[in-house]
Amino acid sequence: LVETHSRRPTRLLAILRAVQARYFHIPNQAIRLLSKELNIPTTRIIGVIEFYSFLHLTPRGRYDILISDSITDHMLGKHNLMDYLSNKLSVSPGSVREDGLVSLDNTSCTGMCDQGPAGLINGHAITRLDRPRIDAIAQLIDEQMAVEDWPKEFFEVGDNIYQSDLLLSSRLTAGQGLQSTFARGLKETLSEIDHSGLRGRGGAGFKTAMKWRFCAEESEQERYVVCNADEGEPGTFKDRVLLNSYADQVFEGMTICAALIGAKQGFLYLRGEYLHLYHKLENVLEQRRQSGLLGNNILGKDMNFDIEICLGAGAYICGEESALIESLEGKCGIPRNRPPYPVSQGYLNKPTVVNNVETFVATANIALHGGAWFAAKGTEKSQGTKILSISGDCLRPGIYEYPFGVTIRQILADCGAHDVLGVQIGGPSGTFISNQELDRILGFEDLATGGSFIVFNSTRNILDIVRNFTDFFAHESCGFCTPCRVGTSLLKKQLDKIVDGHGSAGDVVALEELTRLVKNHSHCGLGQTAANPIIHTLERYPDLYQSQLKKISYEPGFDLNASLETARRMANRNDAGAHLAQVEE
Ligand code: SF4
Repeated sequence: LVETHSRRPTRLLAILRAVQARYFHIPNQAIRLLSKELNIPTTRIIGVIEFYSFLHLTPRGRYDILISDSITDHMLGKHNLMDYLSNKLSVSPGSVREDGLVSLDNTSCTGMCDQGPAGLINGHAITRLDRPRIDAIAQLIDEQMAVEDWPKEFFEVGDNIYQSDLLLSSRLTAGQGLQSTFARGLKETLSEIDHSGLRGRGGAGFKTAMKWRFCAEESEQERYVVCNADEGEPGTFKDRVLLNSYADQVFEGMTICAALIGAKQGFLYLRGEYLHLYHKLENVLEQRRQSGLLGNNILGKDMNFDIEICLGAGAYICGEESALIESLEGKCGIPRNRPPYPVSQGYLNKPTVVNNVETFVATANIALHGGAWFAAKGTEKSQGTKILSISGDCLRPGIYEYPFGVTIRQILADCGAHDVLGVQIGGPSGTFISNQELDRILGFEDLATGGSFIVFNSTRNILDIVRNFTDFFAHESCGFCTPCRVGTSLLKKQLDKIVDGHGSAGDVVALEELTRLVKNHSHCGLGQTAANPIIHTLERYPDLYQSQLKKISYEPGFDLNASLETARRMANRNDAGAHLAQVEE
């Protein structure tokens, strides 16, 4: 294994994934051996294993089942299905069955919100779970049939494209964008990207041409291109579709970027949940090599460039670009201090452009059609189109592309959403809007989004939604900085206390204080946005929170009287004065 990966410590994650696939965990012996062969301390290897949720120090079942905990899966009945699955297989969530055959657990959103309830079996995406499918799975496990031989329809992942515009209706074929780039000239192509007004489609919206220019102007000559295909925001799955059906355009955009900034190596960081795309993408890369679109002397020009695919291992934080770079280097995905930004010190501290999948597809098309073609759509501040992943309470969950400036009302009409209570735009870290705001528009000047668009109808309980999102952040916090590590857990506890009916007026004030603390003092975007679901719903539905409160001055978040039991025993007291009682007003 080590030889296959050229003894590169940066490939640690890939090596650990392979060890785990073989032994269902990473045995101590393997850790010691890898430490010696790769010259990495065992403590660092153990740290990496503990960091990624798909890697394990203790054995998992030979059939390791993870069920998505995304809010959309809950809306589709995940809770009952999990109970059913658990009974059927005689294994509780979070454990391994005694015979070691099967393990079951929850996992964060797997990017299948348009075809859930979904999960992963030995890393392979499984969709549209229902009771008959679970019965069949249980039988296949009893028969100990290899997952590779299970019915193909269990693993079918549809694109579900319902609305196409500039990018999704593009007919660009392999090499076209690159040929236009060379024909027009490198500087001229960068100017076209500039004139297109393209801003990064991951959500932050930094101008793409500016990022590429900064990187190209660095004095260090060793430069890298990285495609961030780690879309982990619950409700986002449009990169899955782009990689499945538009992979050539993704790689074309990366290659154009390499030509413009002078990079020789690129990486596609693919989220671990999209394992099913790995071989397909490798095949596309191989075809491009054979067509002279990757490798040495690309299209007969003085350009050498290739792309490597790196699989993540279940860490949402790796969608943050500096955490992603750390992960690419074979480390824990802990966000770096910024500045310096990746354009000057990225992968191996060399200048690196990191853009997301949709951005690279857009650049490939702009290189072919020109900046004006792209800028003709959208608004003055948000040019071009945006691809959305729509899920939740609507008739046609799937992929939709719109020019920026489209109203939320229009989108809801197109996807068949009725009786709308609210929409979560941009995933849990984005914005929750109520049904009074449906004339707001999609765009950087109003509602920016990386692509997640979750619809909730009036049968949904907003506090259940907020609880799910808050749990998600507490689970995904990387633990590096205290305001986020502790703060997200406190947010969860405080919210649970209120929603479970143990809160008093002071608890809402404390919750608001906590949201400010986590937002203002966290190290990276995860912590800075983790309180958004609470903040946005507190602003819009203050009465909802108030209605959960008890008419008491204060109730502790835990049983204070019971926790004094040890002290009472030690003091040999059991009189009234040694007990506390909460008095209703
Ligand atoms: Fe990690 Fe959260 Fe701190 Fe970001 S804010 S570095 S995710 S602990």
